[in-house]
Amino acid sequence: MDSEKLRETIVGTLKRREAQKIDFHCGSRAVNRSILNQVVDRLNNGKLFTDPDPSALSTPSAEAQYSPRKRTLFFKSEDYGSVSSAEQGTIVHESVHAGFHVIGHGEKFLRIDNEPSAYLAEAFFLVNCGWRFEEISNRPMHLQLAFTIALNMRSQKRSSVSRDDLKLLRNGIARLELGYDTETRFGTDKDYQGIPK
Ligand SMILES: [Zn+2]
Repeated sequence: MDSEKLRETIVGTLKRREAQKIDFHCGSRAVNRSILNQVVDRLNNGKLFTDPDPSALSTPSAEAQYSPRKRTLFFKSEDYGSVSSAEQGTIVHESVHAGFHVIGHGEKFLRIDNEPSAYLAEAFFLVNCGWRFEEISNRPMHLQLAFTIALNMRSQKRSSVSRDDLKLLRNGIARLELGYDTETRFGTDKDYQGIPK
């Protein structure tokens, strides 16, 4: 069931300065405010939907996922992202998937860059919100890696992910990409012990 409250939270999050500042290249993909604004427009025009339905998520520990088939952003509750910037980061993440889907995947896009782009967008959002590394030390490993890369890119004033960092992100995340048509975010990833050097 489409939720107006959730739609307002998502639109409000994507319109935040911390989201609108996001602007980077990750391999074959570019992520910037125009992608996020495409999502905002389609949410407002009834071409993308929201659904606070935990039973629609693919596992009990999942918080959110975007379904291309249903053109729907699913979240675990109606007040998701209304307070927490961590949850708003997840909204940014899923919105990148939705944005890539609605603008279409041209020939130059590589599927392997979809997930790294979403994690990096989430990381840049948190960096722009003033998060420090200590605050994400208990978050999923791919987010920690993306956060470190985002901090380095910012301090070096680079807008493109380096070849080595892209390889790390692609390899780390490729294991998650096993061919499902929806994408799931998990609350924790207990296996991760540190940032690979
Ligand atoms: Zn994702």
